[in-house]
Amino acid sequence: MSNNIVILGAGVSGLTTTYLLSQDPSNNITVLAKHMPGDYDIEYASPWAGANYMPVGEPGSKHQAWEKATWPALKEVCEKYPEAGIHFQGMIQSLHSSSMSSEWLTAIPDTLIFNRKKDQDSATGQWFKALVQPNPWYKDVVPDFENLPESQLEPGIDNGQKFTSVCINTAVYLPWLVGQCVKNGAVFKRAVCKHITEAAYSHHSGKKADVVINCTGLSSKTLGGVLDDRMYPARGQIVVVRNDPGLMSSTSGTDDGDDEIFYTMTRAAGGGTIIGGCYQKNNWDPLPDPNLANRIMTRAIKICPQLVKEGEGIEGLSIIRHGVGLRPLREGGTRIEKDQVDGVNIVHNYGHGGFGYQASFGCAEHVVSLVKEVLQSKTRAKL
Ligand code: FAD
Repeated sequence: MSNNIVILGAGVSGLTTTYLLSQDPSNNITVLAKHMPGDYDIEYASPWAGANYMPVGEPGSKHQAWEKATWPALKEVCEKYPEAGIHFQGMIQSLHSSSMSSEWLTAIPDTLIFNRKKDQDSATGQWFKALVQPNPWYKDVVPDFENLPESQLEPGIDNGQKFTSVCINTAVYLPWLVGQCVKNGAVFKRAVCKHITEAAYSHHSGKKADVVINCTGLSSKTLGGVLDDRMYPARGQIVVVRNDPGLMSSTSGTDDGDDEIFYTMTRAAGGGTIIGGCYQKNNWDPLPDPNLANRIMTRAIKICPQLVKEGEGIEGLSIIRHGVGLRPLREGGTRIEKDQVDGVNIVHNYGHGGFGYQASFGCAEHVVSLVKEVLQSKTRAKL
């Protein structure tokens, strides 16, 4: 017996959920979305992400469990599928394979995090609270974790850490996920739903879906049948450049404002370097602010002078584009739960803020378990 499933949304949440569910041949899946990989739009957060794995879930929370569960999955994709556009940043021990030279291993850039205690009450400091602890929970999850000795810290930095992480080229990874899902039989269709129940009647079989999975991100605020007023954006502005600083790094805050931050990461497979950023809550502005762009570039060169040639300022940056994305935040946290609207079974998977990639597999695994519960109760009802 096959299960007719509609996944509404083709961002990293919808695609990772489809990737896992499509591995079971009894699932007959349609992915419906207004935006698909290749599109750049302010209503579509996923292409704008860096993206990297820098865990921010509070110890003991579901968020932490999702991030913890995601690391092994991202590591596996990185190791098994180089064409997925993910690469390691740091000295990963498990990479020792005969096909890779030791010179290549030592050339992998480090992941470095720096904390200033004075940021602890700022918007960015709160966001990074769990990340910048001297002994964070994820020290036993990611490889090669080390607290940096005080002698290696610049003035004003209270603590720092180094570990192996990944950086994802979202322009390669999202299409790769689509390819895997199509290979497993999922059907992709463009559509704009005004109400969540419309999705149930858009399955490619022409039959009503047994379950709809809602992965609409920030649009869950306005989608009929959901109308979640706990959703709000945290605006992120970035500059993508051709320069390569040779490391992935982030600080807990800057002196440029409570909601401004420094980070840099170089995407796999020629994706350029992302320089950020900010975390502007309830700011919906889709256009890059030129003054903020100037601050992002100026402080990036100050903190990370190797971005440009010696003596150069921002004129030394070769800009690919400026970008703005809205992180889909939710008061009370990400919503992963079963629901029923007008006789349609729904499983929600939205509200992933600034951690949609680094929690993607953990969240999708949770969704798969809820979908199984829905399908089992459907089977019981038929008996
Ligand atoms: P989205 O990507 O927004 O996708 C929503 C989907 O639903 C789209 O396909 C859309 O078209 C569809 N949709 C919505 N409404 C409808 C409708 N009514 N009908 C049909 N389709 C609809 N995360 C990390 O883990 N690491 C990072 O380093 C990182 N960096 C980031 C940097 C920036 C600047 C930003 C903005 C975000 C960053 N994030 C990062 C967060 C991450 O990008 C998001 O959490 C994630 O992309 C959310 O994905 P999503 O699939 O839930 O939503």
